[in-house]
Amino acid sequence: MQSRFPYSDTNKRYHTYDYYLRHRYGTKCARIPIDAGFSCPNREQGGRGCIYCSSRGSGDFCSDVLLPPEEQFAREYARLTGKWGKRLPAIPYFQAFSGTYAPTAQLRALYDAALHYTDEMGQPVVIPAISIATRPDCLPPETVAYLAMLNRLCDVTVELGLQSMHDATLSRIGRGHDLASFCDGYDRLRAAGIAVCVHIINGLPTADAPCESREQMLETAAFLAERRPAFVKIHMLHVMEHTPLSDMWRADALRLLPQEDYVTLVCDQLALLPPETVICRLTGDGPADTTLAPAWTKNKRAVLAAIDKTLAARDLCQGDRYAPAGGAK
Ligand code: SF4
Repeated sequence: MQSRFPYSDTNKRYHTYDYYLRHRYGTKCARIPIDAGFSCPNREQGGRGCIYCSSRGSGDFCSDVLLPPEEQFAREYARLTGKWGKRLPAIPYFQAFSGTYAPTAQLRALYDAALHYTDEMGQPVVIPAISIATRPDCLPPETVAYLAMLNRLCDVTVELGLQSMHDATLSRIGRGHDLASFCDGYDRLRAAGIAVCVHIINGLPTADAPCESREQMLETAAFLAERRPAFVKIHMLHVMEHTPLSDMWRADALRLLPQEDYVTLVCDQLALLPPETVICRLTGDGPADTTLAPAWTKNKRAVLAAIDKTLAARDLCQGDRYAPAGGAK
């Protein structure tokens, strides 16, 4: 049965990325993760980076970084074309590390070329959009100006991690920037007309507790609602092997949310967000062989089904508690 949610033609009660793609481009699109060999300022000069960051810089589903970006793209495009049985428009997603942490001339060469990626046979692929993951402290004015120019050639989305609106949490997780820095980067991108996808993580440890409180996590969603991002990704904190977080997990210094609590929390966060904000992700999952906990995050379908079921049982939709002037209804 179709839900009462305006941005849905299925039973979904939130604005899915699938719905967005079908209405923006008239079809599904293949989203292709790429590791373009960037680094991250938060992992240099002896820094260990964010406590949850894997050795691949959150690019664990990218192809081999030793391959040139265009080859990574062509290989994954061939795999997805085989899986879906048809050629689709594609969105290169520069996912690993900080995708603007380089001189502008280098960024220009990389991203201008991405507009013309081809398949393995050298046939052109329709590229309607590009997504670039980065940090707010990797956005000097000349980079933002270049991204604004690129945005005139295709839809550019910059993915920025907020993770939490609480500075004590950002400090605890080794984020390497504070809320003010996030706001600065976000606001300058928006002023340049560039769409932003904001990432938040539920279940983070904070200064004086092994997990943020439910109220703190709802405050982060309410903060986002006030800024009305084009896209949001909501993640559950998951512990990956060989990360500082794995040491904390082994030392019993974390309190990982059970699935039921996560599902309830996400439903309430969705209700706070504006209905037009596209929800690109509602879970967080790493590769099964290196994800230590929580085990339930490995079954993404079950988590999404539980969210759908809970929203329906509570007759709740994204935006039900959103008030355009900010704050809850
Ligand atoms: S900003 Fe991203 S790449 Fe850098 S340390 Fe944090 S998670 Fe890793």
